[in-house]
Amino acid sequence: MKTIIEPFRIKTVEPIRITTREEREKLLTGAGHNVFLLDAEDVLIDLLTDSGTSAMSHHQWAAMMQGDESYAGSRSWYRFEAAVKEIFGFEHVIPTHQGRAAERLLFGITCKKGDVVPNNTHFDTTRANVEFTGAEAVDVVIPEGREPETYHPFKGNVDLEALENLIETVGADRIPMILITVTNNSGGGQPVSMENIRAVSRIARSHGIPLYMDACRFAENAYFIKLREEGYAGKTVKEIAQEIFSYADGCTMSAKKDAFANIGGFLCTNDPDLARQEKDLLILTEGYPTYGGLAGRDLEAIAVGLHEVLEEDYLRYRFASTRYLGEHISAEGVPIVQPPGGHAIYIDAKVFLPHIPPSQFPGQALACALYLEGGIRGVEIGSVMFGRKDPDTGADIPSPMELVRLAIPRRVYTQSHIDYVVEVIVEVYKRRESLRGLEITYEAPFLRHFTARFKEV
Ligand SMILES: *Cc1c(COP(=O)(O)O)cnc(C)c1O
Repeated sequence: MKTIIEPFRIKTVEPIRITTREEREKLLTGAGHNVFLLDAEDVLIDLLTDSGTSAMSHHQWAAMMQGDESYAGSRSWYRFEAAVKEIFGFEHVIPTHQGRAAERLLFGITCKKGDVVPNNTHFDTTRANVEFTGAEAVDVVIPEGREPETYHPFKGNVDLEALENLIETVGADRIPMILITVTNNSGGGQPVSMENIRAVSRIARSHGIPLYMDACRFAENAYFIKLREEGYAGKTVKEIAQEIFSYADGCTMSAKKDAFANIGGFLCTNDPDLARQEKDLLILTEGYPTYGGLAGRDLEAIAVGLHEVLEEDYLRYRFASTRYLGEHISAEGVPIVQPPGGHAIYIDAKVFLPHIPPSQFPGQALACALYLEGGIRGVEIGSVMFGRKDPDTGADIPSPMELVRLAIPRRVYTQSHIDYVVEVIVEVYKRRESLRGLEITYEAPFLRHFTARFKEV
């Protein structure tokens, strides 16, 4: 088999700046050992997120020139709505400026104190938006989904027994919805099988509970199903995506992921009453229902991107480039979540740095070390992001996993960039015993990882 190459060529370039280690030491201290607080200019290879960082195609840029910026009923809105309806199939489409705005609208209307929302694994903004309403966000991923080294083709699957037990314990009337996140971002970018989605849908319907998809990486999940699940090899990725959504009552979506857009999102539902309430709230905080906080040109970019992301040449390259990073560092002994996910490689910081306890944030320490060594920016997904305090004792409850996510922006970096990333990670791995833990000197009440400051222990 021949090398799987980037199925595009480069038409515009963006220079990146190489810094010295001395500069990076100063910059990291200035940023309170939190890579979110670094200036992007000072980062060489930015793997902080794949969100909003995609390179757009010339088709998308061309479509943006056709953006209709009319306040109401613009041409761009109809193109956007048609693309969303064709792929997702829901009755009501509500545009938002990004995914979390869709979450806030949906949970703000449907959730209240005492409610429980199950999900395979809540993403950070999803959990925060559920909890902000007073409801409880519960993760019910299969046990394999919490074991980084265990191989399973669909590690993002919902634990059906845990879900049924939860429904029995809290009662269906206190569960405003069940969520499934495809792919499971916080759990390693792992896919959910069609069989599992179908089964969750059956459970949800039997209890009269709506099922919503957190659809951010729907194309990657659909392609995993095509590659790994029996009966799907002959279907197009679009057909698989359409089947996924046929089992749900609605979805939230960040167009900054699998729509190749730099901003945008949407909320879909089949429930007309809910759609009406969502639109009322949308007008209050986001914008009129035919633009929802987006410019007409953004709607155009998303409409084109939603189709491009389903192209198999793209998805084949996407998986190959992510896997390339995972396989090369794992061959050198670096512990990662196996198998590699679609959009990112997750280093297991607990195994990488066994001498740093969760209370001293091994993932944060590793993220800092990757920046110091080579100007690479990843993100901690561990006790900084998901750790909590015991409400009674105030003691720290660590996150079940301590990961560092290296997210690959879509169509942005070449193979030599990734070869460099491999070299830097292996270098840090060789001198891992010299890394030290961190303690928090400042934290915000919600989503503390974005703004927290640290010092070395
Ligand atoms: C990014 C993301 C969100 C939130 O979307 P934003 O556009 O960043 O607000 C929600 N869920 C998942 C799984 C995500 O990856």
